[in-house]
Amino acid sequence: MKVIEHYEKATEPLISFEIIPPKRGGSVQTIFESLDKVVDKVKPPFIDVTYHAAEAYVEEQADGTLKRMVRRKRPGTIGLCAAILHRYGIDPVPHLICEGFTREESEDALIELNYLGIHNILAIRGDNNGSQVSLNLNGTANKYAIDLVKQIRQMNEGDYIEDIVNAEPTNFCVGVAGYPEKHFEAPNLDWDIKRLKDKVDAGADYVVTQMFFDNSAYFSFVEKCRENGIDVPIVPGLKILTTNNHLKSLPKYFHLNIPDVLTAEVDANPERAKEIGIEWAQKQTLELMEAGAPGIHYYIMGDPQPALDVIDFVQKK
Ligand code: FAD
Repeated sequence: MKVIEHYEKATEPLISFEIIPPKRGGSVQTIFESLDKVVDKVKPPFIDVTYHAAEAYVEEQADGTLKRMVRRKRPGTIGLCAAILHRYGIDPVPHLICEGFTREESEDALIELNYLGIHNILAIRGDNNGSQVSLNLNGTANKYAIDLVKQIRQMNEGDYIEDIVNAEPTNFCVGVAGYPEKHFEAPNLDWDIKRLKDKVDAGADYVVTQMFFDNSAYFSFVEKCRENGIDVPIVPGLKILTTNNHLKSLPKYFHLNIPDVLTAEVDANPERAKEIGIEWAQKQTLELMEAGAPGIHYYIMGDPQPALDVIDFVQKK
């Protein structure tokens, strides 16, 4: 089923999860062990699997020359999605990114997914972080997520890159990312929301937000989105703070604020960081659900237990 159909049919907020594929050479069994726990407790309607761009590095050789190397650290998104579908009967949502892909490669990936019976995509731009040297795709890649959304919508009309007579239309549901505290490159939130509206107008069916720790940021973001004519579901994404290192790493990598009260509590009791983070997420979850959020999307990455503890608490309320 499509993610948007899950939301349309839901009678209560939907709980969904996001995982990352193992590092190259890692065991998929570890992922299954996590997902077994999740499915046992919640049976989510869908599970997202992140995509990781190939990275180009320049390495200095013994003779002083420079060698360009290309590696994808976490391959396997499509395979993992197929495994989730067949092992658990749960709809997988692969993330597809623009960064590091030509449009032809994106089309190939979409064809693979279509053949596998996977009809949901989260269309994302990806990042080229500073330590990498950008892959030279000669301008043949999608630049922004909106370009990928358009490409998917065109394939849904049977319109492939080459002119193919009677090409079979695909049938993808498309989600996109939204940023309650604005995307780090955007000059301001209003401008960023207009770019989000462009993605929705281009055919995105729903929005999943970047993680946030202050629900008021989400509430005001949703309000502004509605004022700007964005009327699709806007699903809050939550990450549970589990170590005091998160006070620095999450703002650094995800460009978000951690409220003073939470920071002070973790600073004063670093050994209780996980407990404090779980309690915070419990409060966030309850408040979001009571305010009518369409669901909660938990970024569990490797470890589902903190999210399961939150859900356990919420279910007993
Ligand atoms: P876009 O929507 O393309 O926006 C990027 C920036 O460009 C914004 O500042 C926007 O305002 C601006 N912009 C948009 N259109 C235009 C235009 N026409 N002209 C000028 N500026 C414009 N990264 C991964 O590598 N893999 C993942 O699996 C992944 N999953 C994610 C899931 C979620 C829910 C979220 C929130 C993020 C995820 N990311 C992932 C991170 C993402 O790649 C980065 O946040 C990236 O910087 C932006 O991606 P986007 O799709 O929001 O980009």
